[in-house]
Amino acid sequence: MIDATKAILADLIGFPTVSADSNLAMIDYLATRLSDVGAQVDIMKDPTGSKANLFATLGPDIDGGIVLSGHSDVVPVSDQNWSSDPFKMLEAKGHLYGRGTCDMKGFIAACLAMAPTFAQQARARPLHFAFTYDEETGCIGAGHLAESLKQRNLKPGLAIIGEPTSMRIIEGHKGCYEYSTRFQGLEGHGSNPDLGVNAVEYAVRYVARLLELRDQLQGRAPENSRFDPPWTTLNIGALNGGTVHNVIAPKAQIDWEMRPVQAADARFVKDTLRSYCDDVLLPAMRRVHPDASIETEVIGEVAGLIPTDTNEALRIVSELTGANSADVVPFGTEAGIFQALGMDVVVCGPGSIEQAHKADEFLAVEQLEQCLKMLEKLGIKLADA
Ligand SMILES: [Zn+2]
Repeated sequence: MIDATKAILADLIGFPTVSADSNLAMIDYLATRLSDVGAQVDIMKDPTGSKANLFATLGPDIDGGIVLSGHSDVVPVSDQNWSSDPFKMLEAKGHLYGRGTCDMKGFIAACLAMAPTFAQQARARPLHFAFTYDEETGCIGAGHLAESLKQRNLKPGLAIIGEPTSMRIIEGHKGCYEYSTRFQGLEGHGSNPDLGVNAVEYAVRYVARLLELRDQLQGRAPENSRFDPPWTTLNIGALNGGTVHNVIAPKAQIDWEMRPVQAADARFVKDTLRSYCDDVLLPAMRRVHPDASIETEVIGEVAGLIPTDTNEALRIVSELTGANSADVVPFGTEAGIFQALGMDVVVCGPGSIEQAHKADEFLAVEQLEQCLKMLEKLGIKLADA
């Protein structure tokens, strides 16, 4: 099985699926291999038509299935100094080198190599493959995939996200919500501030409110939170605005993010800010200038994976890998999107996040073997189900 997996991985590395570019050739390849073993394959294109998700099913068309999920895109190689061609897999000393080997085409290759076996085993419980686009740019593809599963009214039971965790089980990570908030005021001469609307002043008041919220969020940390730090954090990354000393600042912008440990915190922050703008800031701005505005652009809202007391994915993957504990990690994945659909989810895949996104990215063959072992046991479970 390892040789078949390596051969598939070499093919996958050959598709330069950098997030900015098309992934259609790779999706086509995956679709062909999965249809060949009898899977029901759905390809869902993005609005531009240049990228696609793939969702495939082996076994009966019923709820409660197991999803194996991976993203097809990789981070760019420009500005990185590679020792070999990043889009040509190279094996040396037990390592497989190439862009995407560990993040996360190795997992996808292992799933594909096992597909013919799974096809025989998935009789009682369906097995799904969910391969997405644009994970590295904010889990956009997974969001679209979630929408289409909702439309189909299909409810798989659990998902294993094969991001590189060195095959450790991860049951939680924070969300990552990023925003740009823009203030439009009214320019005027600095000598008469009341005749204009100073966007910088309003931005500063907004920032002050964010800082108050930051303190309040610490008090909202769930008991026994395992995250570090245990509460939802809030960061103001950039504050820009105004022109020169003696002009009332017409524009300002704040780039900020929060990393929620629970969805309720994100709602709390958004609701508080909305009423602060609607009830306090905007009325004051519009008394002077009716066209004044505050607009918040959502750059990305990657849902967190919230650890839960009962998690079938955790139970099953622990059984398969023999692990007796699960961790939380600081990096985000598509897992939260699947959890929001009502599935039990863990992240567990071959390779180390240490090697992801770097020059000379590699996946240890030993990691791929461990992953195959897990999938082989999963197949046996499917047959028994
Ligand atoms: Zn990844």
